[in-house]
Amino acid sequence: ASRQGERQRYLFFVEGLNEAVESRQRRLRELRNAIDDGGLTLWFQPQLSSDRRRLSGLEALVRWPHPSDGLLAPDAFIPLAEEHDLIIPLGEWVLKAACRQLHEWQQLGLPVPRLAVNLGARHLLDSRLPGFVADLLRDYELPGHCLEVEVTESTVMEDITRSEEVLSRLVRLGVQVAVDDFGTGHSSLAYLKRLPIQRIKIDRSFIAGLPDDAQDRAICRTIADLSHSLGLQVVAEGVETTAQAAALQQMGCNDLQGFLLARPGPITRITHWLRHEAPRP
Ligand code: C2E
Ligand code: MG
Ligand code: MG
Ligand code: MG
Repeated sequence: ASRQGERQRYLFFVEGLNEAVESRQRRLRELRNAIDDGGLTLWFQPQLSSDRRRLSGLEALVRWPHPSDGLLAPDAFIPLAEEHDLIIPLGEWVLKAACRQLHEWQQLGLPVPRLAVNLGARHLLDSRLPGFVADLLRDYELPGHCLEVEVTESTVMEDITRSEEVLSRLVRLGVQVAVDDFGTGHSSLAYLKRLPIQRIKIDRSFIAGLPDDAQDRAICRTIADLSHSLGLQVVAEGVETTAQAAALQQMGCNDLQGFLLARPGPITRITHWLRHEAPRP
């Protein structure tokens, strides 16, 4: 009887494995179609100067309105895209949609000074990326400086020579470079010297403990001081309270991003925000 039980368990196990593999295959097929057929959408979140008097820019955040599973956040499909060579087509779709939208806002008389786009690890190592971006800037009549790419430390460390080469070519187009989630990756600080970076984004895990947690305070202040000493700008992400905003402003953070200032939203909501709520100098 125990051998039979054993066998039963084994069959359940195999069946479960098959189901997992099948649902993963299905998800992958759906994602490929979504990228090809306009099934993805961009949300945007504002970044304000730390005195909150100026719109510094927006960050584009991809969403997947899934026909049966609802609106999917990037964590639910970016890792899959990274693993299966979809990150480049996905990233190209995001870059194009972002530039098109930037152009559109310009036409509406709602100019956005800077639009940040997150780059997947494999995409940064793609030597065709700078050419792709150059074509977009030309097609949508955009100056390079209104586009920013966000890369993570881990992405850059994967192949620092290649990263440097691709980023330098982007910077020659005027494109700006920000290091996202700073302080959470495996990295050395040497890359800060070597790469053409303009901006550092303090990871929101360090913002969460402000203003009371002494360690988070020390970390945020140190990152801000380091950035300024290197001539870089600092953005804090995940700012949720006025006390956090005040602490970060006092530390000399240039820009703030987070639910306190504005939540990420779809194009219609952000267009409304730009027209009626964004601070005007
Ligand atoms: P990220 O680039 O660090 O983006 C910030 C994330 O924090 C966003 O989550 C945003 O919605 C969330 N957030 C913003 N303000 C607050 C706040 O005040 N409190 C809290 N708790 N969260 C806040 P989201 O949109 O789910 O994106 C997650 C990650 O997915 C991003 O982290 C980025 O690494 C990645 N991602 C997003 N869009 C893209 C994309 O187009 N391409 C690639 N490759 N990755 C993307
Ligand atoms: Mg980001
Ligand atoms: Mg971030
Ligand atoms: Mg983050």
